Amino acid sequence: MTRTLILASNNAGKLKEFNDLLAPIGFDLRTRGEFKVPEADEPHCTFVENALEKARHAARVTGLPALADDSGVCANALGGAPGVLSARFAGEPKSDARNNQRLIDALSPHADKSAYYYCALVFVRHASDPQPIIAEGRWDGEIVAAPRGQGGFGYDPHFWLPALGMTAAELSPEEKNRLSHRGQALRMLVEKLR
Ligand code: IMP
Repeated sequence: MTRTLILASNNAGKLKEFNDLLAPIGFDLRTRGEFKVPEADEPHCTFVENALEKARHAARVTGLPALADDSGVCANALGGAPGVLSARFAGEPKSDARNNQRLIDALSPHADKSAYYYCALVFVRHASDPQPIIAEGRWDGEIVAAPRGQGGFGYDPHFWLPALGMTAAELSPEEKNRLSHRGQALRMLVEKLR
């Protein structure tokens, strides 16, 4: 039996990435746009709370089970900033180039350049589900000032992976999915849903 599941996102890349793993276990994933679900607020300071807020909102509007993710980059020397503010770290309008520059500037007085990407994924069966299914992933690296690579998005050209000797933007999409915070969280979610 196929079960329809709302993805609380309109990102086509995410839809494909998530569908590749969820379709084989019987889910028919649809974006919130298809069901005219307006964008949810993300008022919280933790990824998991924001993901839960988005999943609940999509479930409430559609009456269907929903899945939401929230992710970002956290620098250890900055107490986990930019964290949930990653997308708009340098303010409006949203700009990867200005976000990256702000992160490099914020880290310049610090010797510790270590950082990690984090992803929280939350699945709710319905809007008042008392027991959401939560999965997470973490990917460790370092922030480097000089960009490298053409792939990925966001902070990837500055996210250095010491063990590989390259940035996240130099990985193929398949390699990134295998290693990334989102890939890890998605595989954990699939295990929990099975
Ligand atoms: P969202 O949760 O997908 O909206 O991501 C929030 C923000 O975190 C993005 O706009 C990026 O700035 C950053 N981010 C999350 N995941 C990645 C990634 O895999 N590479 C680069 N930046 C990321």
